[in-house]
Amino acid sequence: MSKQSVSHAYRAGIFHCLADPTSTATPEEAYEYYADGILVINDEGKVERLGPADQILPTLPSGFPITTYPNAIITPGFIDTHNHFPQTEMIAAFGEQLLDWLETYTFPTESKFQSLEYAQQVAGVYLDELLRNGTTTAMAFSSVHAESAEALFKEAYQRDMCLITGKVLMDRHAPETVRDTPEAGCTQSRTLIEQWHGKGRLHYAVTPRFAITSTPEQLEAAGHLLKEYDGLYMQTHLSENHKEIAWISELFPERCHYLDVYDHYGLVGPRSVFAHGIHLCEDEIQRLARQDAAISFCPTSNLFLGSGLFNLKQMKQHKVKVSLGSDVGAGTSFSMLQTLNEAYKVTQMRGDKLSPFESFYLATLAGAETLQLDDQLGNFLPGKEADFIVLDLHSTPLMQYRMNNCNNVFETLFVLCILGDDRNIKETFVKGISRHQRDQATH
Ligand SMILES: [Zn+2]
Repeated sequence: MSKQSVSHAYRAGIFHCLADPTSTATPEEAYEYYADGILVINDEGKVERLGPADQILPTLPSGFPITTYPNAIITPGFIDTHNHFPQTEMIAAFGEQLLDWLETYTFPTESKFQSLEYAQQVAGVYLDELLRNGTTTAMAFSSVHAESAEALFKEAYQRDMCLITGKVLMDRHAPETVRDTPEAGCTQSRTLIEQWHGKGRLHYAVTPRFAITSTPEQLEAAGHLLKEYDGLYMQTHLSENHKEIAWISELFPERCHYLDVYDHYGLVGPRSVFAHGIHLCEDEIQRLARQDAAISFCPTSNLFLGSGLFNLKQMKQHKVKVSLGSDVGAGTSFSMLQTLNEAYKVTQMRGDKLSPFESFYLATLAGAETLQLDDQLGNFLPGKEADFIVLDLHSTPLMQYRMNNCNNVFETLFVLCILGDDRNIKETFVKGISRHQRDQATH
């Protein structure tokens, strides 16, 4: 937080999205790309302007600081709209599908987060890992303990990151060490909201884990909480796994489907983000679109837990907002490039195609739109906050060899989506300040 941004220009290839490439008449209208571009950042850590180097260079005062990155593309920082910071230490846990995976791995791991000290240590590892992977904004679950959300807010504030989290609300069907009550859940959430919501670049999300682990009383309390303060988010899970969906129908027989449960308690709106949404019925999809709620598509997690294949095309046809989530620790990578790799394969399994323009849109501007932060984040329009990354196109011998055979930006971005990972993230900037350099320790 103490570091001060100074006016600075960055020269490399520059790519950013202006719109959803599936919504414009041609994909080219949805992005800008400068093969030799310059991005000028002002001393408030905001985008001043960008354009081709041969046009911008003559307009800069003599001696204006410029950093040049050969064989690199600058893009906006990635936005990960769904993950769980307490699960950082249990990523890659063997063998189970959702409900058993929660029981076997998640609940025992999350029970450790009643210690503020422990939570803070993991929060630091988690945020550094995000930055190492080029993710500058995340919407994250904490654990049920207020201390865990407190720890993550503290550490994100230190790094001046735009981050959204909330303590999990969970008052049934889980061990006592990770359960709260409707009253305690609300009281603790209120304290956190008053302390952190709107501080720096932080926001609070009311966070029922899912309708299985919250009683009707707790879901009702969550709905009331959302109305009490301006600008709160709501995050939860929806329709990930068939056994989960069957259990929901047993628990809420009076509701017509899974989304109807959340809707009944006032949890579906333009600031609601539902992770997964793999097995939705037509009415659920239409209702998501009508109420402007968003889905976070988490392909590595959906494949890892054997949950199913998300239907991106169908969501787009219904105009449901979709962005991308790593869903760590059920997700298998912090890297949004790796996440896009698997997103591509999921669409292939459905007989569809995910273009690299749409992929980069999902990982940047779509995330900002999902979080209603697209006036501040997601691309390089002047005045936006300068969260950006430098992608090294020569990060491995194979990457360099393959890039030499790319003829245009479509191919270059596609190779990044398929072969790319944390090794491509040469540098990560948060509000104009360098917060990670691959070739040095994160600071
Ligand atoms: Zn999740």
